[in-house]
Amino acid sequence: MSNIGQIYYTMGEEGRGRQRRKTRENIEVISSVAPRAGANPDRRISRIQMQRGSSGRGRSKNAAMQSIVAAMPEKSSRKRGMGSSRWLLWLLVLTVVFAAGVGTGWYIWGRNTGSTISLASIQAPEWVDQKLIRKNIYSRPAVSLRQVNDIVVHYVANPESTAEDNRNYFDRLADQSEDGAISASAHFVIGLEGEIIQCIPINEIAYASNNRNGDSIAIECCHPDETGEFTQATYASLVKLTAWLCDETGISRKRVIRHYDITGKDCPRYFVGSEEAWKQFKKDVQAYQGDWE
Ligand SMILES: [Zn+2]
Repeated sequence: MSNIGQIYYTMGEEGRGRQRRKTRENIEVISSVAPRAGANPDRRISRIQMQRGSSGRGRSKNAAMQSIVAAMPEKSSRKRGMGSSRWLLWLLVLTVVFAAGVGTGWYIWGRNTGSTISLASIQAPEWVDQKLIRKNIYSRPAVSLRQVNDIVVHYVANPESTAEDNRNYFDRLADQSEDGAISASAHFVIGLEGEIIQCIPINEIAYASNNRNGDSIAIECCHPDETGEFTQATYASLVKLTAWLCDETGISRKRVIRHYDITGKDCPRYFVGSEEAWKQFKKDVQAYQGDWE
């Protein structure tokens, strides 16, 4: 193996593509200046050394030789450095994998802080009028709601309609033909007089909250006009029902959300338009908790 070949081999062994390319460039330069056979090999080395680093340029032959000697242990230490950086890389990969695992665990744990109580065992209080709608694929698919993470507040977006009207609308969806069928429902509808009708058992899913139907309880509220503002009676019943649901299911007040918080939809309009009213509602629920009897 020639000197040049030796150097190429040694440097190539360092393994990094960038360095390999660099070495190849150097070899080309070196080849063009390679001395005739029999020339002093030290001279070749000094040239090679000069090619390898700009710091070597302009140095004397002796200085170049010294730098070769100096470079030798440096090279081996660089190799050690490479080894430890590989370990660091592995450590980094392991850390990332571990962090991803822990992060996923935290995420799942966070998602599971909803109700752990058996929803089927919760009995509706006497102030809730249970008028369950028929089981059907459009509004009551009879799919188990295994867990509740959020309570979602809606407005019916149909001024002056009553709780009964909305309950019957959900029920009539059962009679649709397949073409252009509508899916809609809610667990509870609160009327203009504060009456509360339960349409779907809380251990079944309703079709109200888009991608969150599978882990939330939906409350629809009636309203007298387009502003979506609730009557005093509707509001009072919403506070009471929400407080009861939080207490019974163990869901945190913080997990009472608006339809708006899921999809950005203007629902319930009054609470979307007034953050103050929404905050006040949460406070009123808090004040009512444990006192909904
Ligand atoms: Zn809604």
